[in-house]
Amino acid sequence: MTADSDHPSASDRSAHPETAAIHTGLGFKGDTGAVIPPVYMTSTFAHGNPEGFDYTRSGNPNFRNLGEQLAILEKAAHAQVFASGVSAITAVISTLKSGDLVLAEENVYGCTYRMLAQVFEKFGVRTRYVDFTDRANWELIEELDPALVWIESPTNPLLKIIDIQGIAEVAKGTNASLVVDNTFASSILQHPLELGADLTLISTTKYTNGHSDCLGGAVCTNSDEWNEKMIFAQKALGLQPSPFDSWLVARGARTEALRVQRHSENALALATFLENEAGLPLVRYPFLESHPQHALAKQQMSAGGGIIVADLGRSVEGTVAFLKKLEYFTMAESLGGIESLVCHPASMTHASVPREVREQVGITDSLVRFSVGIEHIDDLIADVREALAATADA
Ligand SMILES: *Cc1c(COP(=O)(O)O)cnc(C)c1O
Repeated sequence: MTADSDHPSASDRSAHPETAAIHTGLGFKGDTGAVIPPVYMTSTFAHGNPEGFDYTRSGNPNFRNLGEQLAILEKAAHAQVFASGVSAITAVISTLKSGDLVLAEENVYGCTYRMLAQVFEKFGVRTRYVDFTDRANWELIEELDPALVWIESPTNPLLKIIDIQGIAEVAKGTNASLVVDNTFASSILQHPLELGADLTLISTTKYTNGHSDCLGGAVCTNSDEWNEKMIFAQKALGLQPSPFDSWLVARGARTEALRVQRHSENALALATFLENEAGLPLVRYPFLESHPQHALAKQQMSAGGGIIVADLGRSVEGTVAFLKKLEYFTMAESLGGIESLVCHPASMTHASVPREVREQVGITDSLVRFSVGIEHIDDLIADVREALAATADA
């Protein structure tokens, strides 16, 4: 069976992302007339097939279809898919050798930090963490000669905005490749490769799939050399996704633009409520004027995304009482799904970090992170308003 000749090509860049996400990645339907391609649940392929498939660890029609969609959404020449965001991170870091340095933003995702510290450090890969909102630290890219510069924007959980284009310009003249973990912003709202990054990495578990029913990851690039390294890592390290999960993520990608728009509208409305009407001591959202890097956020993102961080200004008990009272926000880690979630970093994601260290980086006992879903905004605001009122004296 060959790829259908009548599906729009991945290199057709004239369509808008809303259109392209629906009309690409539709290969391998054969002559069945199926509107959506099937799941190729096969471990191996007959030798000499026209598409050159051999074994699913190194390629499958569902990976190729999803890769085409993700390349379009991330505005990249290439996209390789992995079993999870962490697998995608493994693929990139595995390209390093002993003695190489990773210069990373100090608020990188916890799993990235853990992998660098507890896995790759043993193999001689060094890491240094800096605050990339401070421009003085950009000079370290020239001074320290890192192999990779690793940033994320917005960061977790405090939603710092990092200047991707500014850092890309400094990195350009050096040996360093700039990696941007684009998971929080999503492929819809921010395009790191257009801003000069070498690699953009996404946990497709979050906004791309969007339905909280599987894990996935991807690395996108315009560099043929980096793309070859990612293909190699996929098969050599066994980082490939399942065909079924790839099919699920591909289905999610077709509605990502629509969902992310609603996530962003809802989050802006809820953030405005929390700041003005509820009067919380701290509300951080990239598209609120009170955000310290609001202008930069507006420059590099087309909307604010679905994540809000707020400090309730209460005791731990009062904070937990509020979280338990919420009806539509489930207390859970993760983000980017259609359903609203809420997370309490002090007792959940950052519980293992000592309180003094947590407070130094701004993670107070009453800090909460909302992943705002696509429910009706009036229901979400009413839920938060009632939970705040009902637990005011807790
Ligand atoms: C979730 C996440 C990851 C890890 O992705 P998994 O799919 O959970 O392995 C990496 N980076 C960021 C920013 C994330 O939010």
